[in-house]
Amino acid sequence: MTDYKIEYDYELDKKVDIKIKHHINKYCKEIEQKILSNIKCFKKFRVEYVNFDNDKQLAVYINGTEEYPIIGLDIKAHIEAIGEQKWFMALFTALETSILHELAHAIQQYKGKEFNEDEAENFAYDYSKFGIINKI
Ligand SMILES: [Zn+2]
Repeated sequence: MTDYKIEYDYELDKKVDIKIKHHINKYCKEIEQKILSNIKCFKKFRVEYVNFDNDKQLAVYINGTEEYPIIGLDIKAHIEAIGEQKWFMALFTALETSILHELAHAIQQYKGKEFNEDEAENFAYDYSKFGIINKI
């Protein structure tokens, strides 16, 4: 999986706003320091920007990349999902929650567990809302 490129499976979004990219880069560093350094698993992951070809999907964890997880994010789908709340904070919160959710799937796979949606959802919610790092 080390030679894997997300564009094999998804269309890359090359027009993502630089402010969004900066925020996401900063957030990923925070996650590495505050979450990944405290648990026994991979220490780094990366986010790629993609356009899913359906309106429903917001993000994806690339199955099998658990040594250095790759997460795909669809920014336009997030903007649509937050609807009227077009300010950046609502968008950032939605993006952060998606990253945490997909990261939880990467941790599940790294630890040899089954993918579990409830566990991933709770992991994302508890950290973004309360700063609590759930054990996976
Ligand atoms: Zn999921």
